[in-house]
Formats: sequence, C-alpha cells, structure tokens
Amino acid sequence: MVLEGKAKIRTDDVFYNPEMGTDRDITVAALNTWKNTHKKNENIYADVTCATGIRGIRASLEANYDVIVNDRSKEAIDIATKNIRKNNIQKKIQYSNKDANIFLRNNNYEVVDVDPFGSPIPFADSAFNSTLSLACFTATDLAPLCGAHSSGKRRYSCIPLNTEYHSEMGVRVLIGALARTAVRYDISVTPILSYSLRHYARTLLAIDKGAKKSNKTLNSIGHISHCFNCLYRTYSYGVIFDGERDCPNCGEKLDIAGPLWIDSIYKEDFIQKTENNLKKYMDNYNKAKKILSNLGKELDIPTHYDHHVLCKNWDKKPSKLEDLIENIRDNGFKATKTHYSGTSFKTNAEISDLKHVI
Ligand code: SAH
Repeated sequence: MVLEGKAKIRTDDVFYNPEMGTDRDITVAALNTWKNTHKKNENIYADVTCATGIRGIRASLEANYDVIVNDRSKEAIDIATKNIRKNNIQKKIQYSNKDANIFLRNNNYEVVDVDPFGSPIPFADSAFNSTLSLACFTATDLAPLCGAHSSGKRRYSCIPLNTEYHSEMGVRVLIGALARTAVRYDISVTPILSYSLRHYARTLLAIDKGAKKSNKTLNSIGHISHCFNCLYRTYSYGVIFDGERDCPNCGEKLDIAGPLWIDSIYKEDFIQKTENNLKKYMDNYNKAKKILSNLGKELDIPTHYDHHVLCKNWDKKPSKLEDLIENIRDNGFKATKTHYSGTSFKTNAEISDLKHVI
C-alpha cells in the first residue's frame, strides 16, 4: 500500500513512480487554482494514461473534480478501479479501458491530462480536440527534446540543440511542437505553468478557439541562436529563421535551434495562486514550493546560463551563485536564479559582460 497526498493506493505490477509525487502535488494545487478561476458547471478531469489512477484519484480527493481515468492496459484499469473503491471518493469518478486517442476522440473534457511513457506527441491532436479549457502534458523523453538524440527532430518537427540549458531547451521544444499542433485546428494555447526537472518536462496550456487567437499563438514561436565556441546566445521570432548566421561575439558559426516556444512559459498570477494552493500535508510540499517560487521569479528570457559551465570555460573557480547574481546586479544588469538547477541563472547581460563580471 502506498500513501500519497490524501490517496491510498496499491500498485501491484502497475507503473507507479514515487519521484513524480512532487509533480502530482503541483498538479493538484494547479487544478484547484484552475477550478477557482474558471467556474464551470461540469468540472471533469480526464486522466488519459492513468496507470494506478493516482493522478485522477488525487484530482478527485484533493481538488474536487469529477474524474474519468483511462488506460489501455487492462491490468492498470483493474488496479485503478480497486484504488477508486478503496478511497471512498465523494465526487463522480468513472473509468475507461481504451487507447488514449480513441478515448479522447469520443468526448470533450474540461481538463485533459496526458502523462504517458515518453512523448505526449502521439496524443496531442486528439487531446486538443477533446479539451474544453486546460490541456496538461508531460514528456519524459528529455534526451530527444534537448537535442541529445536524433529522434527529437522527427518527434517534435524541430531542431533542438544540446546546450548547457538543456532542460529549458526541452520545455520550449515541447511547448513549441504542441502549439504548432493546436493551431492547425484553430486552437490557441497559452502556457500558464511549465517547468522541467531532471528527466521530464511538463506544461499546462490554457486553450481557446479561433483563427485570430491561433495566429497570435504562432507569433510566440521562434528560434534560439547559440554559439558553441563562446557561449553567446540570442533569440528571434518567426516560424522560419531569417536571423544572423555568424556570432557577433567571436565570429564563429551560430547553431540554430527551433522552431520552438520563445515567449513566457507561465503566467505569474497563476503560479502565485498555485503556490498558495500547495498544502502542508502534501508529501513534497517544500520541494514543490521551492520550484514554484523560483519559477515565479525567473526573468522572462528563453535561455539560462550555468555558473559552473561558464567558470570551467574561463578557468575560474565558481563562487556562491547568490554572490554571482548580486555581482551581476551590481554591474547594472538583471539576474535571477532558475528552477532548472542549483547552478543556473538568467540574466539580460551578454556573454562578454558575464566574462567581465566572473
Ligand atoms: N499518469 C501516471 C503514470 C502513467 S504511466 C501517474 O501519474 O502515475 C503511462 C501509462 O500509459 C501506462 O499505464 C500505459 O499502460 C499507458 N499507455 C501507454 N500508451 C497508451 C495508449 N496508447 N493509450 C492509453 N494508455 C496508454
């Protein structure tokens, strides 16, 4: 028996990863924020690839959603239904044993959550057509998303680059590919909460309908230009790249990543409310709070630096990250920590300015 949040579940041989508990704590808090800001008659949360049913059960117990859990595995649904019975759920909760795409094509749900093994892209078209207001996606194939594996190009119709900001590259490649899928149906997306931690990237997309709004979504797509020689980077907007090809800092060739999501990956007020909706009883309360708090303070810039990588490049000993950030600010630039790692930071300073500061 496993206890997580307010749920008690058995897992038997069905997939359950306790490390994703932090992600589920954040999801429960975000669902509460969403429900409070988007009042609907029917608040149905569809847990499309449910495994043990833990996400759906927690959405029901801790965020008061009516829930439908689905998995194509009979074994998973057998366990999920047992878990539903065990948890004395007051809200309406149903189950379904179908392929996720067939399940999604059959009905519309207020919130759709696709948390499969690997990439959510095979389910993206049906997810957007099924979602009424909020579509949530997890990708655990961070290596392809970050450019460390050639399958990223095929899966995400994008060229990712394997840089020191690989997690950020991953989350932006994911959102970019999802956004380009949605606009094909005149569906617009607004990322309200996105992050990338260790082996996965997660994004919550508020969706809306209409050609004009979808054109606006497309305006957030662009490219990141990166110099592997001197670590200079910049970004530009547009589905097709038409920027500089040579590094203005050192003259070497720039590498180009994209098309990917350039604009903001979250809404500040949504993050703040979600942080407030985290509850002390949650198993990973402190960890989840730290992630949201760092995320909410990050500068809105699509790349970050890694302090240790810079120091290694310039043969310097790294100081404390807090001291470096203070130093950058003292030199007249903006700088913040990021949620991606303990050694990463965002700044509007150019690489040449950083070299001077470090
Ligand atoms: N969301 C779960 C973890 C899901 S693991 C949690 O938070 O714990 C991925 C699940 O997706 C597995 O149970 C697998 O059976 C299911 N799955 C994989 N491909 C699927 C498909 N095409 N349709 C429906 N379910 C699928």
